Amino acid sequence: MSFQSLGLSEALLKAISKKGYTTPSPIQEKAIPVILEGKDVLASAQTGTGKTAGFTLPMLQLLTETEARRRRPIRALVLTPTRELAAQIYDNVKAYSEFLDIRSTVIFGGVNQKPQVRTLRQGVDILIATPGRLLDLQNQGEISLSKIEFLVLDEADRMLDMGFVRDIKKVISLVPRKRQTLLFSATFSKSIKELASSMLHKPVLVEA
Ligand code: AMP
Repeated sequence: MSFQSLGLSEALLKAISKKGYTTPSPIQEKAIPVILEGKDVLASAQTGTGKTAGFTLPMLQLLTETEARRRRPIRALVLTPTRELAAQIYDNVKAYSEFLDIRSTVIFGGVNQKPQVRTLRQGVDILIATPGRLLDLQNQGEISLSKIEFLVLDEADRMLDMGFVRDIKKVISLVPRKRQTLLFSATFSKSIKELASSMLHKPVLVEA
């Protein structure tokens, strides 16, 4: 199996080879084709499996298949429990979108919000966020989630463990019903299954 055969664009293949990856990891092999088909995904994957590229690469491909909007409403939201993880995903998104006309940024709590607001006002296609700061800025009118096409929940089990369930439900109430949703979790407790069934539409199950 090669990245070429997964149906990714030349611009993405170039970024992948710049990263030094030669073959897709098992989770990438399974998740990428399903996501490219537009399906919702419920994925069981630990850190270190290559899950970030597993959702980021097909998301970038689909986002670039339609023309960038002039005013750049946020089209993809990646929710993640911690600032470290948010920063890491952002680094990945930046690297994979190097040869694409895609803008992204990251927001998290514990730091001054001003620089984050300034970047958001310039327009981004992809936003990576922790739930608290996302809802703060949404409440302040700095973020609209009404044009979201992709919603990704990464490390969903950790988000629930950290008490973010109400925030996640609030976010779901703010994004369009018609969207593609991807949920990644290392474990599958009853509460994760409940969350998944409330937010995913006919998900395909993917295991690393
Ligand atoms: P993740 O599980 O997304 O945190 O990724 C774990 C690590 O594997 C990161 O350092 C990635 O850069 C790296 N990685 C992801 N996909 C591949 C691949 N197909 N080949 C080699 N390394 C990869």
